[in-house]
Amino acid sequence: MKTLILGAGYAGLAAATKLKPTPGLEALLVEQNPFHTFETRLHEAAAHNTRVTLPIQPLLRGTGVAFEQAAVESVDIDAREVILKDGRVLTYDTLVVGLGSVTNFYRIPGLAEHASELKQLSDADEIYSFVNQVYSGEYRGNRDIVVGGAGLTGVELVTELAQRAELLSKARGLPPFRIYLVEAGPKILPILDEALRQKAERVLRDYGIEILVGHRITRATEGSVTVQTQDGEEKVIEAGKIIWTGGIQARDIVKGERLEKGPGGRIAVDEFLRAKGYPDVFVIGDMGLALNQEGKPVPTTAQHAGQQGRLTGKNILRLVRGEALEPYEPTTLGEFVSLGGLMAVGWMKLPWNQKLAITGGLAHVMKKASEWRWRASID
Ligand SMILES: Cc1cc2nc3c(=O)[nH]c(=O)nc-3n(C[C@H](O)[C@H](O)[C@H](O)COP(=O)(O)OP(=O)(O)OC[C@H]3O[C@@H](n4cnc5c(N)ncnc54)[C@H](O)[C@@H]3O)c2cc1C
Repeated sequence: MKTLILGAGYAGLAAATKLKPTPGLEALLVEQNPFHTFETRLHEAAAHNTRVTLPIQPLLRGTGVAFEQAAVESVDIDAREVILKDGRVLTYDTLVVGLGSVTNFYRIPGLAEHASELKQLSDADEIYSFVNQVYSGEYRGNRDIVVGGAGLTGVELVTELAQRAELLSKARGLPPFRIYLVEAGPKILPILDEALRQKAERVLRDYGIEILVGHRITRATEGSVTVQTQDGEEKVIEAGKIIWTGGIQARDIVKGERLEKGPGGRIAVDEFLRAKGYPDVFVIGDMGLALNQEGKPVPTTAQHAGQQGRLTGKNILRLVRGEALEPYEPTTLGEFVSLGGLMAVGWMKLPWNQKLAITGGLAHVMKKASEWRWRASID
């Protein structure tokens, strides 16, 4: 069974590293980078240049999976073809698609042209260079940063940047830059319960971050964003760097006549994570629209991408052996948001669906523990 796995993110890499040499199975992992990116740690790379990648090849030892560094141009699941950017065409018996998501700029005028993103290593490098430039002593432009979107990514980024600004200001005797966190919705971190959310908000305010909730970015230019309140009041914020973390959508790369797509362009999948109408195509991670036990979309998180990948890897082995597939049953073990340095807030799941709220250093350790678990799971 010729199996192609597209993307070595949390979903694709988890699937590949669950495979083992098996008679009848020929597997190839296709990824545009020679490394896996710990996307959940990109804010650390943006602020501190932390290493957040891992070479792929050594992780595949003992799996029987071959690796091809190549960019996918498009996937035609009616013709069963994967077209690479270099023009080559790959065919398959079974396909696993885990190509992740892209930033959604919601067609806000000027935003895609003038805002940085935080989706890949080069985005983090760009933000890191800006901060260094601002503290170089020769920089004469606007030093402030506007981050649009106060979800997990936006909040983790602003706190890490504020922490770095504090360090650099002390070391170089320069004032810190101002950081604006702009959010159209009524609150930051809507994924958290109220008490945890308020705790996170206090940490942000202690850092001096200006939180503008209920403010929609309506336009962006080279050095500014225009924001509008619900009452229609407008103001312009000038900034040396604009970063948009306000939304994602599934990568639009798979074409198929019978494909069903849901919110954010995610591909609807069945209980085994196969695209509906295409039993030979698994779609996992941010690209797939899997439903939980209550029929609600599973969140686009690394945690769920990893679970889906591990299950898919095992299901491919079951397919080769002619065994029945195991259905997907998502579990959310907890949710932690890092708030710069050793600070974090979040909750972990307890028996009988209870949640234990954790803040401070212990929450930071829990967040790190989830990263270590991920690292150990792909070894
Ligand atoms: C800053 C930040 C913080 C986050 N924090 C958390 C967190 O704390 N907890 C959490 O659970 N989730 C978090 N997330 C979300 C999480 O990172 C994503 O949900 C997760 O990465 C989705 O995994 P995936 O495998 O679907 O996609 P990805 O991890 O994005 O992997 C997709 C892979 O496909 C490759 N690829 C893409 N296009 C092509 C192509 N054309 N050809 C070849 N290869 C291609 C990419 O290079 C990449 O390796 C965070 C995200 C960000 C950006």
